[in-house]
Amino acid sequence: MHKDIATPRRTKEILDQYGFSFKKSLGQNFLIDTNILRKIVDAAEISAETGAIEIGPGIGALTEQLARRAKKVVAFEIDQRLLPILADTLSPYENVRIIHQDVLKADIHQVIADEFTNVTDIMVVANLPYYVTTPIIMKLLTDRLPIRGMVMMLQKEVADRLAAKPGTKDYGSLSIAVQYYTEAEVVMTVPRTVFIPQPNVDSAVIRLIKRKQPPVEVNDEAFFFQVVRASFAQRRKTILNNLVNNLPNGKTLKEQIERALANASIDSRRRGETLTMGEFATLSNVLRTMLI
Ligand code: SAM
Repeated sequence: MHKDIATPRRTKEILDQYGFSFKKSLGQNFLIDTNILRKIVDAAEISAETGAIEIGPGIGALTEQLARRAKKVVAFEIDQRLLPILADTLSPYENVRIIHQDVLKADIHQVIADEFTNVTDIMVVANLPYYVTTPIIMKLLTDRLPIRGMVMMLQKEVADRLAAKPGTKDYGSLSIAVQYYTEAEVVMTVPRTVFIPQPNVDSAVIRLIKRKQPPVEVNDEAFFFQVVRASFAQRRKTILNNLVNNLPNGKTLKEQIERALANASIDSRRRGETLTMGEFATLSNVLRTMLI
């Protein structure tokens, strides 16, 4: 077994050797705690049959732990300066492939087809760059990738929003978008002290396991998400006011919106944050039928 990358000492050695300076704009906070890394890999249930996709390998702290357990690891890294470092730190592992690319621009379907032939179990595992957490998660979900799920470190505040239940302050359109596609669970919270440099927010690890079917029946997904987003546009406003003010042509549709709320048995004075995903589905289905 090779020396772990993710110890404070080895990480400092590597950074010094290459004269690497962190770019805050790329969300570069590297993990220096192998226990946390192992727990992340455990939470993802990586086996010798699993193909792992990593986003932002940094100097390879998580990549190495994945490589020891997975069949193959494919990692997207945007920062060219890290490529020679990764070639060095990960040289003991033959099952790792680094792709120098912005993950938001990547054709991940194609990468899976090229890199994971004969692999049926695929997990995304990452310590995400915090400046693009939500766009990355939404891309991974809406690309409808053939993956089992994702285990990711992110800001604790965002993790809480992703897993939030109706009636809580964290519940919003992001919770519904994520829980429509996956079962979301916060696995652990992580102190800032395990990163270098330390971020100025607390972190958490979230596990998102892809659902085989959405938990609710929706006739028109795009419209459903439009209704959900409009309902949360101003949190303190009622569902009726939010829909009237934030749906396209909402003001001219006030009567239909009122009728749709009544037909869906939703009191128009309620706030969006009290509605379950099932209620949003019924409401958007009823309203959609009225508008056709
Ligand atoms: N995995 C390493 C670790 O845990 O120590 C590094 C994690 S660090 C929080 C985020 C990494 O993502 C950095 O290496 C950064 O350069 C990379 N990154 C930032 N934006 C990216 C993007 N759009 N696509 C791919 N990688 C990105």
